[in-house]
Amino acid sequence: MTQIPVNQYGDKILRKKTIPVQKIDPETIKFVKDMFETMHEASGVGLAANQVGSSKSVFVVDISVMKDYPNEKPRVFINPKIVERSEETDSYEEGCLSIPDVRAEVIRPKKIKILFKDLEFNDQTLEVDDFLARVIQHEYDHLQGIYFTDRIPEDQQKNLKES
Ligand code: ZN
Repeated sequence: MTQIPVNQYGDKILRKKTIPVQKIDPETIKFVKDMFETMHEASGVGLAANQVGSSKSVFVVDISVMKDYPNEKPRVFINPKIVERSEETDSYEEGCLSIPDVRAEVIRPKKIKILFKDLEFNDQTLEVDDFLARVIQHEYDHLQGIYFTDRIPEDQQKNLKES
């Protein structure tokens, strides 16, 4: 396995919408393994493909490092689509491996339903809430070229500049 450098705020690829994966090949499987290694090494709970230089529509999540979720398993989401979002929202302080020095409260739907493919390219459906739903929404945003800081008030964005 190999760690991959994480793109930082301002890198063009982080504003590009990602492209659906057409098939799972050995290269894709290795890439996903490398994503997990990169995320774990950086002590992150989620990582999107464009954060590590790929335009594939893929992100990985593992919240088991959080003390409240020791039994959560690592998850990979391929070609994800969020199809339902609850009206109920909550707020939580987020950070991002691509914006290391910034943390901010972000309001998001509390519960979501997401369709995606797994690493065998089978269709999956997941309904989740609370912290896992938040992490998934954060990573899903990356695949659309959206940072969590796009979702905070403008006056809190003033120190962020894209080249
Ligand atoms: Zn992020």
